[in-house]
Amino acid sequence: MGGRDSAKRIPRRAMVLSVCALTAPILGELFFSETWGGPGALVWLLGLVPAFLFSYFRGLRGAVAALSIGLLALVLTQITLQSNGRPIQNWSLLVGIVVAYAAVAVAVGWMSELLHEERRKAEQLATIDELTGLPNRRLARRVLEMEVAAAERGRDVTLVMFDLDNFKAYNDSYGHLAGDQVIAAMGRALQESTRRMNLSARWGGEEFIAILSETGREGALRFVNQVRANLQVAPLEGEPVTFSAGIACYGPGLGSVDALLDAADRALYRAKIGGRNRAAVVTPPASDQTAD
Ligand code: GH3
Ligand code: MG
Ligand code: MG
Repeated sequence: MGGRDSAKRIPRRAMVLSVCALTAPILGELFFSETWGGPGALVWLLGLVPAFLFSYFRGLRGAVAALSIGLLALVLTQITLQSNGRPIQNWSLLVGIVVAYAAVAVAVGWMSELLHEERRKAEQLATIDELTGLPNRRLARRVLEMEVAAAERGRDVTLVMFDLDNFKAYNDSYGHLAGDQVIAAMGRALQESTRRMNLSARWGGEEFIAILSETGREGALRFVNQVRANLQVAPLEGEPVTFSAGIACYGPGLGSVDALLDAADRALYRAKIGGRNRAAVVTPPASDQTAD
């Protein structure tokens, strides 16, 4: 997602305004320059209007495009005037205007480029968890809503909720920083096992979820085992870290985002009280099973 991709289409209103802003100095120079004299050339500063508008929508490239068009209009107008026997009255003013025009247009374009970049980063931060680089709860919920809508049209969808086992004790033994490294390792373990069509996210604290498309109970259990294997080989401090998982498959009685989340949470709780380091499954119509 680069700045280029986030460039917006320039709306018709902005185009019309830009054309008007350039037409005014062209017509003014052609028809009134004799009456308004040298300082009338200041009307060319109207050419900054397209520079502002284009840079808002297209950043520096927009400003440079507007600047080029403005300068072209100015040069062509001056050539027309010269060829009609009306020489430029105040060269130094005209050169000053051109320099100021170019400087302001480039500065505006550059500033707008920075703002575009800041906005892109802010948008990314709003949906990405900083520690793991995984999507955060907000994005996960949005994707889950879309997946449930697809499930209503017949696609299999399974939700997996993960929670690290005895993580408070791990933090107490090895410190919060080591704990953070475990969370990051769990993020990598999930990422390595997640197909591009699916999504794993940090749900909050030491909890994660995975939304598995076109996947049922067996596929979800395979996925959980894969994540477990990935986490086991992660070089982490202290004793091996484990997690429990709650799996909920979409279907009758589990037909909404909240019902799926609730079922996965209940399954996770059963995995915990069943001894941890295991997965429990709820399949429609909400029958409970536990798997080691
Ligand atoms: P259980 O097996 O029942 O899940 O036990 P637990 O100790 O993992 O569960 P509990 O919810 O009591 O503790 C979760 C701990 O996770 C508490 C909190 O300090 C820790 N934690 C949450 N977010 C972070 C984080 O971002 N970094 C670190 N290092 N620890 C975190
Ligand atoms: Mg927890
Ligand atoms: Mg926990």
